[in-house]
Amino acid sequence: MEMKQVSDNCFAVLNDMDCIHDANSGLINRGGGVVIDTQSDLGHARQMIEMFSKVWPAMPKRVINTHEDADHVWGNQLFEGAEIIAHRSVPERMKHVANPKERQKLLPGVGDLHTRLAVKALHPGIAAAGQQLREDYNFDGIELVLPTTLFDARYELDFDGTEVHLIYVGPCHQVGDTIVHVPKERVVFAGDVIFRQCTPMGWTGSYEKWFQCLDLMIQLDPEVIVPGHGPLCGIEGAMDMKAYLQYVREEAKKCFDEGLTALDAARQIEFGPYGEWRAPARLYMNVERAYREFRNEPACAPWNMVEIFDAIYEVAKAKGVEVEF
Ligand SMILES: [Zn+2]
Repeated sequence: MEMKQVSDNCFAVLNDMDCIHDANSGLINRGGGVVIDTQSDLGHARQMIEMFSKVWPAMPKRVINTHEDADHVWGNQLFEGAEIIAHRSVPERMKHVANPKERQKLLPGVGDLHTRLAVKALHPGIAAAGQQLREDYNFDGIELVLPTTLFDARYELDFDGTEVHLIYVGPCHQVGDTIVHVPKERVVFAGDVIFRQCTPMGWTGSYEKWFQCLDLMIQLDPEVIVPGHGPLCGIEGAMDMKAYLQYVREEAKKCFDEGLTALDAARQIEFGPYGEWRAPARLYMNVERAYREFRNEPACAPWNMVEIFDAIYEVAKAKGVEVEF
């Protein structure tokens, strides 16, 4: 983890692993401080606070959650008394998708050899994902702290002329997707609308909506984009994401028309240049999302986590790449 200053008053804490749960955080050091996303567990959140505290005068008064996923909200409880801001959909969604109990059960389970072997025999993907998370994370003690300041389309803050615009762009990767734009400093905190040099995972929303959001980000013409996962970039980060999603959707359509399953399609579609990105086998999720659209299924249809992790595991094995999530 490292902190980088990206403009006069904007900073980023970047995770270097770029796998699942390795989310970035931001700080706008104005108006008493605004933190953007609070990390995946209390250890990482404390490390982030320690890094940002080198430049802020006191604990920040505000926190923004860019969306409802666990890896962006599980450090909220450490910002006692702060105003937590998010899109109106986020509190309800957090209760479902970021319930800490489920993952708190998973990690000790896979830590026990006998349980791990039993899980591995039935669900190798779940066993491998649990093992990967255990190496870096500890979900003990996490309690959900929900946002209380909620907005619909747009929310604006003004700190003596430094405006901060929260723009709702969901659902493209998750229901509550929000980007944070600081126009004067030409910075956008993108949340998980942008994964940089790592394969995106999207949970709900549509390809079209995601393309619209990426186009908007290019129009905003920031000098720096802080992605939800991966290293800093400029607008080329939005362009690369769009090219990746277009490529996957086109390839998935050919496979769909041939009658292949999403899993077989993900085994068959070439990674191409995206094989260099972390966790390329997460391709499966993007294929399955495209298939849901081709079948006219609702974007909000729930995912079966066991199936997803097992499928990603199978795709990684079939393609001879490292199993990572
Ligand atoms: Zn994330």
